[in-house]
Amino acid sequence: MLNNYSPNMLKTYQTCPKKFYYRYIEGVNVPVSVTPFEKGKKIHALANYFLQGVNISRIETALTDVEQEVWQTLLANPFFQKDYFKSEYQLSCKIGEYWVGGRIDAVVTTGDEYFILDYKTGSIPKNPEYDYQTMVYLPALDRFLKGNYSSLSFVYINLKEKKNHVIQFTPQLKSEYEKRIIDICSQISNDTMYQINANSCSRCEYNKICAQ
Ligand code: SF4
Repeated sequence: MLNNYSPNMLKTYQTCPKKFYYRYIEGVNVPVSVTPFEKGKKIHALANYFLQGVNISRIETALTDVEQEVWQTLLANPFFQKDYFKSEYQLSCKIGEYWVGGRIDAVVTTGDEYFILDYKTGSIPKNPEYDYQTMVYLPALDRFLKGNYSSLSFVYINLKEKKNHVIQFTPQLKSEYEKRIIDICSQISNDTMYQINANSCSRCEYNKICAQ
């Protein structure tokens, strides 16, 4: 039985319950091409070392020109320049009867304002206010800080387009997020059929094994 739902799990279920079944119930891992993710992984690792105060000068010399440009874009970002609080940090909280959580890229602060950072080397989610990353991590950090802040925001850093998308956590969003999280977690925990959603099969890595 699953007892902690990550944003990816919730997103996968929303995309297709059958896909959720293959990945998280059966544990079937279909290899996908890692090439598009390599640049992102390197930048995330470098950002984590940098924020933790590790000397990264030798690692920086191993970056390609394209990676170096992305890295410089992140370094110049005003949110990335705020004070370090946490990075690559596992954060969970209980919403209703469900535990949700995952690993955030970073949290930075001005002392009383807190910002969850999410670096994107590709595009940011189409509907960032209601992406499961936003809806899980903001309430989780809110619980972690026990309300000791003047403002709490989620910042999607779009490194490709050099733009930030900032979502400020409000009491209204808090109750809306909790309602949506409880709703999807309860659907998952009560599901026994894991119906297919054929709308996204063409991009699905399980399409060769999926019995439709
Ligand atoms: S191939 Fe289609 S129906 Fe099958 S798991 Fe993927 S998205 Fe779902």
